[in-house]
Amino acid sequence: MLAFGIALAAVVPALLPGHPLLRVLVALLGLAPVTAVLSAVCRRQHRLVSALRTSQAGFRTLVRSSVDPVVILDDRLRVTFASPAVATLLACDPATLTGLPLERAIHPDDRGTLFSTLAAAEGGEFAVRTARVRTGDGQWRLIQATVRDLRTDPEVGALVLYCRDVTSRGRGVDPELLELSLTDPVTGLPNRTALSRRLAAVQRQVDTHPVALALISIDGLAAATARPGTEETVLRVLTSRLTRELRGEDWLARGKDGDFVVLVDGTVSDAEVVATRLISTLGYVATPAGPLTATAGVTGLASDVDPGEALRRADLALYSARSAGVGSVHRYDDALRIAQDRRSTLALDLAGALTRGELRLAFQPVVDVVMRRTTSVEALLRWRHPELGDVSPQEFVPLAEESPLITELGRWVLFEACDTVARLTDDELSVAVNVSARQIRSGELVTDVVAALEASGLPASRLIVEITESMLLDAHVVGDLETLRELGVRVAVDDFGTGWSSLAYLVGMPVDVLKMDQHFLADVETDPQRRALCRAVLQLGTSLGLPVIVEGVATPAVLALMSDMGHRFVQGYAFSRPLEVEQLAAGAWRTVPDLPVAVAPEVTA
Ligand code: C2E
Ligand code: MG
Ligand code: MG
Repeated sequence: MLAFGIALAAVVPALLPGHPLLRVLVALLGLAPVTAVLSAVCRRQHRLVSALRTSQAGFRTLVRSSVDPVVILDDRLRVTFASPAVATLLACDPATLTGLPLERAIHPDDRGTLFSTLAAAEGGEFAVRTARVRTGDGQWRLIQATVRDLRTDPEVGALVLYCRDVTSRGRGVDPELLELSLTDPVTGLPNRTALSRRLAAVQRQVDTHPVALALISIDGLAAATARPGTEETVLRVLTSRLTRELRGEDWLARGKDGDFVVLVDGTVSDAEVVATRLISTLGYVATPAGPLTATAGVTGLASDVDPGEALRRADLALYSARSAGVGSVHRYDDALRIAQDRRSTLALDLAGALTRGELRLAFQPVVDVVMRRTTSVEALLRWRHPELGDVSPQEFVPLAEESPLITELGRWVLFEACDTVARLTDDELSVAVNVSARQIRSGELVTDVVAALEASGLPASRLIVEITESMLLDAHVVGDLETLRELGVRVAVDDFGTGWSSLAYLVGMPVDVLKMDQHFLADVETDPQRRALCRAVLQLGTSLGLPVIVEGVATPAVLALMSDMGHRFVQGYAFSRPLEVEQLAAGAWRTVPDLPVAVAPEVTA
């Protein structure tokens, strides 16, 4: 009809003889169908454009502001939009690509894999594909695209390709192999290598367009995927769940140790919001080991911070979030770096501290307030760092526990403590030695104890081994403790009340003494409930036939309060700070000051 109209308007008047008015009339008649068709086309286009506008405007605005080359395809794999960054990638005006079937730009040999992927793409899923693409100047470039199928997303309704040029790396390399090297085989997500490269590319533009990094560590993933055949399923469900929660331009990849990494389009605050949302969505992922939980660290990207450092920063934030508890999201700041630098220095220096003679033991008396005498001393490890000065065992023991070094240190403490106390003229004073979980799990504790007792000549009955409550949950540990008790060594539960304290688990356990944790004494002078707890621990010990030592009694007032309550064994600054070896040898532990007069408040609870 359109052709007919044009012919009528253009050809017929020229052939028609006669009055010019007649010719004009005929021409106008001929133009009528042309106008009708054109206006119908215009109306349709208008409808389409406005429909597209409403559904995709928001998404395109996002894409347009992207620093990355992004191409949007319709169902028939025609380009409906190409972001401005495509200009540099393909040496052409992105507007000229609109309407172009994708196939035309792809190298014939690469069409098969690419199109099968696009055809098979499933709602929201990611796939990464590499193909040769013809540029505006007739060259072939190797382009890698992260494909996201958002056809079912009402706001997008399209396939979205996030592209990048990998030509220089791909010269002479099989695109399939290249793609495999950049893809996590289980989830299909970009892998660590792809992540590093992407970070490097994004980092160059972050001054004008903020991007942040969120590192998400899934707890108990190993347990959740332990059953044969479950790993792939769990990870795929997980990936799909996380993907669905992402916004248009957020970019998900797989990091180290099974972590997930998101390049968040926005500031570090946006990354916190995204990470929090991702963590909460994990609660809906049911696995054979129960719902998943996670923790996250976030950091903003900066042009002067290289990708490796950005990942380390996110890692530090994650480390800090982990110590705050499951579900936490922490943001990187320089204090975390300083703390980490200190930890690294200490961990490194600790390895040689023993041979350099920087470690020593201090001994803190445990006093029997009824008999007014010191019954035992607790050996406490001390480290004087040549540059950093005195470092608390609360800081360096956990570092030693992260490596086999703790076994070596623990052995040294055992030998040194037994030897020091065996040399004293007194033959009744006992010595307590702290034993860490890793040390006891090394399986060498019994051998080390026997060797230390033999070498020092200290009777087994004068050695107390201090363990923590949680260690009693391990059957092997319990077995070793039973062996030690058969030898005559006593076992004390240190920091009692901070773990899973319950009568049920203590009954029948190889335990001789309970050491009530210091936190029971916080506000004990003013808080009746605290006092009730202190009394309850004493009663618990009595009903189990176990003496209770109150730890951290720092002031005469608290000392009076405890002794008034019936507590008999006390350790703390109120009697003595930890003593140096010389003070111990000089008998400083023998002096037990008089008990202060009780000024404790009326105990009502
Ligand atoms: P812990 O075994 O509970 O030791 C008691 C801690 O309380 C000691 O801290 C001691 O100095 C402190 N303390 C004693 N009286 C008071 C007081 O009145 N007020 C206050 N505020 N604190 C008091 P220290 O020596 O810093 O040791 C801390 C922790 O480090 C120990 O807690 C123990 O868990 C660990 N540790 C110390 N030496 C060793 C060791 O040789 N091996 C292992 N595995 N851990 C050790
Ligand atoms: Mg202790
Ligand atoms: Mg303690």
